[in-house]
Amino acid sequence: MKSLWDADEARACAGDALALRVYTSRLLGREPDLVLHGGGNTSLKMKAANFFGDLEEVLYVKGSGWDLATIEAAGFAPVRLQVLRRMAGVARMSDAEMVRVQRAAMLDPNAPNPSVEAILHAIIPRAYVDHTHADAVVAITNTDAGEERMREIYGARVLIVPYVMPGFILARRVYEMTRDLDWSAFEGMVLLNHGVFTFADEARASYERMIGLVSEAEDYLERRGVLRVLLAAEPPPALPLLPLARFRRAASSVRGAPLVVRLEAGAAARGFAERPDVSAIASRGPLTPDHIIRTKRLPVIMGDDAEEEVARYADAYRRYFERHAAPRLTRLDAAPRWAVWPGYGTLALGRSAHEALVVADIVAHTIRAIQWGEALGGWRALPEEELFDVEYWELEQAKLAKGAASAPFQGKVALVTGGASGIGRACAEALRAQGAAVAALDKNDEVTRLFAGRDAVGVTCDVTDASAVATAVEGVVEAFGGLDLLISNAGIFPASRSIAEMDAATWSRSLEVNLSSHQRLLQACIPYLEVGLEPAVIVVGSKNVPAPGPGAAAYSVAKAGLTQLARVAALELAGSGIRVNVVHPNAVFDTGIWTPEVLRERAARYGQSVEEYKTSNLLKVEVTASDVAQVVCALAGPVFAKTTGAQIPVDGGNERVI
Ligand code: ZN
Repeated sequence: MKSLWDADEARACAGDALALRVYTSRLLGREPDLVLHGGGNTSLKMKAANFFGDLEEVLYVKGSGWDLATIEAAGFAPVRLQVLRRMAGVARMSDAEMVRVQRAAMLDPNAPNPSVEAILHAIIPRAYVDHTHADAVVAITNTDAGEERMREIYGARVLIVPYVMPGFILARRVYEMTRDLDWSAFEGMVLLNHGVFTFADEARASYERMIGLVSEAEDYLERRGVLRVLLAAEPPPALPLLPLARFRRAASSVRGAPLVVRLEAGAAARGFAERPDVSAIASRGPLTPDHIIRTKRLPVIMGDDAEEEVARYADAYRRYFERHAAPRLTRLDAAPRWAVWPGYGTLALGRSAHEALVVADIVAHTIRAIQWGEALGGWRALPEEELFDVEYWELEQAKLAKGAASAPFQGKVALVTGGASGIGRACAEALRAQGAAVAALDKNDEVTRLFAGRDAVGVTCDVTDASAVATAVEGVVEAFGGLDLLISNAGIFPASRSIAEMDAATWSRSLEVNLSSHQRLLQACIPYLEVGLEPAVIVVGSKNVPAPGPGAAAYSVAKAGLTQLARVAALELAGSGIRVNVVHPNAVFDTGIWTPEVLRERAARYGQSVEEYKTSNLLKVEVTASDVAQVVCALAGPVFAKTTGAQIPVDGGNERVI
């Protein structure tokens, strides 16, 4: 591991102890082999003036909810050092009490909650203290001879602390161990099965000691020839997507909420999943107890029947809870957080695409560490009762009691066609804003720019190309684990032409895009919707269906056919629990098909100005793409859970429709 210290960057912080603290914290955060997604913590001891101008000794310690990679000065909670040191001298204290006393000792009541390791930071008599969960160090301690290996690597330069629960108990243990010790004898401290501390009076020295100690652990793994892990040699096989979608549905059902599933099928994930001993080595426990809140203790090992594997996992989890549960504990849901899929890779589950990615990152580091430990002589995680105590920590239970609010479509997967503009874009944006993972298809490759990120993917796809559509649908299932909502929207508005003047190309093009492509898309989606979560299809029709206008035969006929297709689909798919409903927008002018030219032409046909034409409805309102998207979201959501086969106008009111 290399030091990322950069003299120029550091110079910008010169003379400002807290700025340097921010800088080296971010250096630690930049290295995923040290800390992942909010793991680890750092601190600085310095004198700070209070409101009255008196200087007080203060511990600036990472606040909970901040990530080292992106932390700012405001992310450090200032706590009176004297109070923290006195707390270490108290024989017994619950973690809830600890948090309360720490908060009361803060110089700024608006700062975030101090890290649960604040007392431990406070008793280390050095200005800068750095703490990580370095993969190499923790992996070595997770073996049969972990402690001896640490002594072999570090000798007496490092204080070795046997595993105890993080929080007050850990701080208290270190306090007792070090009361008569001289801290200057140590470069750092290894917490077995948990992580590493380094400390110094200079920011750079503490940071570089961390890099140094971790490098020594990496060298140890290298010398023993265990750093190389198995990589899959063959290219990834074609994925069985339906079992993947069924797995997602089963896990979501146990979780009681929709989940996004992220597949990792790279050479490292498949190499692990192809090991003949994968079931045994993956079932011993996590890399560090810090991860258990995200990953649970164990993964599912996928077999032939995903539903059965999930049910078995959930049973085992409930028994694990019963084995260790104390009174008043609330059992967490019994759903898995990750899975090993022999032959295909690993799967990470989350309530959002972001959460699934966090789990996937932790899993990638975990499966590597497991293989290092196994090659060293045997991967051995903490006993399950220790892990249970962390998973059911009173502070985590307190968070549960508060309950987490979630967006209406959190964890749902939606596919929207015609997503680069107008109603399709508005629908995709609205669903995404309400928590769904969204795939937007459009022939215009602008869609790939509009929808990019963990929770959204834009796919350039011509909906009239059946094989491109099938590939895109499979890509959505592969990206998010399934499909729940289909917004069948893509359409064109052909130039106005009377039936007498109709040319064959205009006619057949409208039918192809506005009707036939929707049938093929629906056909490609049905197998996945059948195993989706509260699945729903919303078809974007047109006011022209109930109230056609002259000159729009090619459009109106196709949209009428599309509406009839949706009605038949509602009949055919009800048995699978798939709802199919239609919206009939009218006069939505912020869409791709309404060029100023088409708008002028249509207005002229009705003898109106463009402005009159835009609001020519009973309510005299302009209807926007976003208005339609809100109705589509409502139809996709629980309000319309018992409605299928309906047609809802979004047109400002139209006498001919009413
Ligand atoms: Zn820790």
